[in-house]
Amino acid sequence: MRIDIVSLFPEFVAQCAAFGVVGRAQERALLSLHGWNPRDYATGNYRRVDDRPFGGGPGMVMLIDPLRDALNAARAADPADARVVYLTPQGTRLTQAKVRELAAHPRLVLLCGRYEGVDERLIEAEVDEELSIGDYVLSGGELAAAVLVDAVARLQEGALNDAESAAQDSFESDGLLDCPHYTRPLEHPLGQVPEVLLSGNHAQIARWRRMESLGRTWLRRPDLLDEAALGKADRALLEA
Ligand code: SAM
Repeated sequence: MRIDIVSLFPEFVAQCAAFGVVGRAQERALLSLHGWNPRDYATGNYRRVDDRPFGGGPGMVMLIDPLRDALNAARAADPADARVVYLTPQGTRLTQAKVRELAAHPRLVLLCGRYEGVDERLIEAEVDEELSIGDYVLSGGELAAAVLVDAVARLQEGALNDAESAAQDSFESDGLLDCPHYTRPLEHPLGQVPEVLLSGNHAQIARWRRMESLGRTWLRRPDLLDEAALGKADRALLEA
């Protein structure tokens, strides 16, 4: 998968993506990241990339042309069809289902805003999709882009050493939260490991994990249960 980052600070995203699973995905050539800085496409002595908003008011707005030229350069760098995503608090909230969908695209171009954001005409003309990473405002789209890069990179085939671990994560196939996990040491002042996990009885372990997932989801994120893929046995447990 190829991801192009259009940003005033593309190195910021590259740095975030240099470690752990995402760094390894790049080493394994499962992911390639490319930065495009609109300032390189700005003209004039000051290479301006922003200007005051029409209508007055505080803050600055990112200019159309340097961004558009950077976007076009990114598009032209590879023949594969690119989906252009603008990271913005006004976008659709990013979910694991959306991450899965985007992870299947061969190419994404991520547009990161700064200041008050981007001239609306550029968004209307060039952007395929607007995504938000949550209901709060960041100073720039780079952290949001890094979040998206991380989430799609770990889903590339071969990025995780054990692909099954992703399938068991929260929000995945069944739409529930993950169960709790424990590891060594068995004895610890902070508490006991649930007996069932030591039983070697795989059916009981699977049942316990399912109950924990259901219970956690019910307590912490009951909204997820409406959409979750629940079987009869799950419903019986929840209604008990
Ligand atoms: N004036 C904009 C608004 O209220 O919708 C906020 C602009 S914000 C200070 C600057 C940039 O940060 C945005 O253009 C966007 O790229 C990015 N950004 C901020 N919060 C974000 C979020 N929750 N999700 C994704 N991107 C965000």
